[in-house]
Amino acid sequence: MVLAEQVSKSFGSNEVLKSISLSVAKGEVMCLVGPSGSGKSTFLRCINHLEVVNGGRLFVDGELVGYTQKGDTLYELQPKQAAAQRREIGMVFQKFNLFPHMTALENVIEAPIHVKKQPKALAIARGKELLDRVGLTDRMGHYPAHLSGGQQQRVAIARALAMDPKLMLFDEPTSALDPELVGEVLDVMKGLAQSGMTMIVVTHEMGFAREVADSLVFMDGGVVVETGVPREIIANPQHARTKAFLSKVL
Ligand code: ATP
Ligand code: MG
Repeated sequence: MVLAEQVSKSFGSNEVLKSISLSVAKGEVMCLVGPSGSGKSTFLRCINHLEVVNGGRLFVDGELVGYTQKGDTLYELQPKQAAAQRREIGMVFQKFNLFPHMTALENVIEAPIHVKKQPKALAIARGKELLDRVGLTDRMGHYPAHLSGGQQQRVAIARALAMDPKLMLFDEPTSALDPELVGEVLDVMKGLAQSGMTMIVVTHEMGFAREVADSLVFMDGGVVVETGVPREIIANPQHARTKAFLSKVL
């Protein structure tokens, strides 16, 4: 579902991603961990073309991200085409970024109605179903300010799912939450994984990685240092940098 081939990305002279190659099969969950500044968020942003790569290629569901190829030449997609491609990928951030003046349900149905042009009744029915699924049946009419952080993040997940993405990217979805609210968000993500969604999750929740992820990637300094089965890497890291990192987050 996701294939990165020698992806490089620089900001000026700062080479943030150095030839990243990895893949995530359809229906699998990959957890991405690493110290601050290692390039995790940048990599996620490259996958949905919010950042333009300087080298290498990224594919989502067999489609080249951000470009179209004619012969040997790559042409950047027109903004409209790039936006259409991006719509197939759901993204959830550390900060929930809900529209503050809209209820939970209004947040969820906004893009399906205005971007996907779904009939309102259909968007509402589907939005209710999704809020139900993330455990917010009785909070649909609440405004973000009247929801806990965990509830807001679950609305954000429902909102992303409302666009029927084929891939979900999570960038530290529980880092901004009080510890007692982390579990309810991880439970929703676990349910999503079990339903067969392909997911890439940047997180320091190693319990989630061990239990839910099919693969674990440890990044440091813009390179993939180690990758493998989460349980094995966590129990027996091969590289000194992985060991040092894990000793801090476990
Ligand atoms: P964290 O765990 O703190 O979120 P990260 O692994 O997600 O870190 P990135 O946010 O991808 O790391 O940043 C990697 C490097 O790229 C950092 O040195 C950062 O300063 C730099 N960087 C990220 N975005 C930009 C940008 N838009 N312009 C310039 N430099 C950037
Ligand atoms: Mg980050």
